[in-house]
Amino acid sequence: MGCKLNFSESSAIARQFEEGGFVRVGPDDEADICVVNSCSVTEHADKKCRNIIRKLHRRNPSAIIAVTGCYAQLRPNDLAAVEGVDIVLSNNDKGDLYKRVLELSERGHTQVFACETSELTSFFSAFSSNDRTRAFLKVQDGCDYKCAYCTIHYARGSSRNIPVADVVAQAERIAAAGQKEIVITGVNTGDFGRTTGETFLDLLRALNDVEGIERYRISSIEPNLLTDDIIAFCAASDKFQHHFHIPLQSGSDKILGLMRRRYTTAKFADRIESVRRAMPDAFIGIDVIVGFPGETELEFERTYEFLERVSPAYIHIFPFSERPGTPAVDMPDKVPSSVASQRVQRLEKLCSELHRKFAENALGKTRKVLFESTMRGGYMFGFTGNYIRVKVPYDRTMINRICDVELVAMDGDSADVSGRINASEVTTTE
Ligand code: SF4
Repeated sequence: MGCKLNFSESSAIARQFEEGGFVRVGPDDEADICVVNSCSVTEHADKKCRNIIRKLHRRNPSAIIAVTGCYAQLRPNDLAAVEGVDIVLSNNDKGDLYKRVLELSERGHTQVFACETSELTSFFSAFSSNDRTRAFLKVQDGCDYKCAYCTIHYARGSSRNIPVADVVAQAERIAAAGQKEIVITGVNTGDFGRTTGETFLDLLRALNDVEGIERYRISSIEPNLLTDDIIAFCAASDKFQHHFHIPLQSGSDKILGLMRRRYTTAKFADRIESVRRAMPDAFIGIDVIVGFPGETELEFERTYEFLERVSPAYIHIFPFSERPGTPAVDMPDKVPSSVASQRVQRLEKLCSELHRKFAENALGKTRKVLFESTMRGGYMFGFTGNYIRVKVPYDRTMINRICDVELVAMDGDSADVSGRINASEVTTTE
């Protein structure tokens, strides 16, 4: 459940079980052990987790259900009270979760193993391996920022990372498995280097030299950590894609202050301009929280106008969710959920207009596309470097290949594009 970081860890946990002789089964198949890697970024995520556990228990009444992840870290006893849960383990236990679950599964009563945030000091190395095309590689964990709405740093501990050399070794394993694209992920990814005295740029440079990986994407980076050097490096690299995901959260400096974010709208706009100067075709995705306490109509209009001005390719919209233990809980001037929903709808409309316009601007151009294995309606899909989704007639020989594709037309009223492969120009390292 949850973010790309959790996804990479879930895949690594699954490998622990497979190396222990277990076979992974589908969600509708009977299982002996179910492991839930939970998320707790919003109230909705907590509810979803409880529902999934109940569903797993109904489908596998005799299975051992073990829950780990951020919800288990923050409120272990809440999860222990959910019918069907046998074992609750902290984020510290992920490194040897397989062993823990096996040694604990005999006992036949619910067991809770919690730990304090201050004890979250170990680093669980992880990358995903169950997707043929791209892998999510965890490079950093934890966060030292204290944004007023966020519980992640309580669930994940302080910012830490493994040495660049260890990350490179994992990227080489991913390349050896035949995957061509890596998405580097973390909690505060750009804060890489905090515990090793290295920098995020050191990491990018080292990864750029890994044989066999042809593309990298940075899953997300805080605006105050997106330096000119990083921008210049990505612009000059033929492997780091022109795709940036940068959390804004609000287009109002008053609200950014209340959120305890580390930049102003002017600083944010300056980062966007720097990216666009170096990579005019860059896809910029922005996170926005709607309905934060104190967000009056005027403050929301400021956010809306700011988004129109910086014109990102995509807006990830999150209605504010009050999280226990965060400063935002005690803040005055709460925004009614009905008002927040109206604001979400307005931003969703703006997002689909901007997303479509971004793709339309690329029509007629030829772009490199890495094709995935999914087939739908006789078509297959892939993404350009700057994250435009392209569809072409299905051809199994194109899976996991990078091809030059002419972007021909918009696909219906979506932001997808129909493409034409210049078959003569198929490029592959095989
Ligand atoms: S930067 Fe802020 S929002 Fe992001 S994980 Fe850290 S505390 Fe949470």
